[in-house]
Amino acid sequence: MVADVWWWNLRAARRSPYEVRMKRLLKAVGLGSVVRSGDLVAVKLHFGEQGTTAHVQPLELVPIVAFIRKCGGAPFFTDTNTLYVGQRGESVSHALQAARHGFDPNLLGAPVIIADGLKSGNERVVPVGGTHFQEAYLAGDIVDADLLVTVSHFKGHELAGFGGAIKNVGMGCATRRGKMRQHGGLGPDVHPTHCVGCGQCVEVCAAQALRLDAQKRITLDREACVGCAACFLVCRHSALHVDWRTDIVAFLERMAEYAAAALLSRPRPSVHLAFVRAVTPGCDCLGYSDAPICPDIGVLASMDPVALDQACLDLVNAAPPLYPSALPEGLAPGDDKFHALHPGVRGEVLLAYAEALGLGRREYRLREI
Ligand code: SF4
Ligand code: SF4
Repeated sequence: MVADVWWWNLRAARRSPYEVRMKRLLKAVGLGSVVRSGDLVAVKLHFGEQGTTAHVQPLELVPIVAFIRKCGGAPFFTDTNTLYVGQRGESVSHALQAARHGFDPNLLGAPVIIADGLKSGNERVVPVGGTHFQEAYLAGDIVDADLLVTVSHFKGHELAGFGGAIKNVGMGCATRRGKMRQHGGLGPDVHPTHCVGCGQCVEVCAAQALRLDAQKRITLDREACVGCAACFLVCRHSALHVDWRTDIVAFLERMAEYAAAALLSRPRPSVHLAFVRAVTPGCDCLGYSDAPICPDIGVLASMDPVALDQACLDLVNAAPPLYPSALPEGLAPGDDKFHALHPGVRGEVLLAYAEALGLGRREYRLREI
């Protein structure tokens, strides 16, 4: 069966206000058919690392909260703590960061609950029949929620090529231990001659795998590295890169297996939304938001995360490239923008593997509202 992906095209000439269009989208995707009275509904999103602006904004979520409440559910906004040392590495800083970005329960009608607990110890072990894993380590409050609604900002990603619903679930519902398992072995490619000895990467490396030698040049202890990717993000001197020789395909497969653990273990289907606007080249963990690579496309929704990601990817690639941006010059509509940005990664690998795991279908029917 072909999955329905509902698309609120931002460029459509309909004049309905935001709340009305969002309500129409939520009705179309069938959110009302899965929320039951008294449900605790986890709305899984990314609150944006300090310094980003492109993440999903709090006021964009108001109609989603209102819809769930009207169906009798009690929504809460949630995410899990990160591997890297930023503003979201433990729950106190994470909740404060969400508050700084305006996720205020008094305004939005839903509290922020960091789902894996203070230091990521709130964990459930969930079985998964994958090639890489037989069990996954997931955030307790997401597993315990009666219903899961994911809200993703669709954009590029340094390791995954692009970030959408599957990444939001696979990496985003995992505890720190689960994240480490997915990243395992993806340490940086080190270029000590470019290093200026600023020490910023040493500070963010929770595994203490990076050190400055007597000449103030960076060195990596590969045994200690857990592949969290935090250091790639902080070096402004091109001394640390993604090591494309390591197995990106295995990383994408591991992430898909975590998504399968999180979604296929749930008693009821989850609902997935993707905001395809401000499509930045990198993720919302970076601490800044670069210029978008294509015009704003809209908001998409589906019960099928694979179909949703595929539809977002196809729409972004079909759109005209936006310049000036991080895109290489000379791209045309239809060219693979994320592959041009992150040449070592083919995001389709993730979608194909997710489909093979039974997470959904890549074939979809796009239905505009
Ligand atoms: S952040 Fe870059 S320049 Fe600074 S110490 Fe690390 S590798 Fe060297
Ligand atoms: S060296 Fe390894 S563990 Fe340390 S920040 Fe980089 S990727 Fe993470």
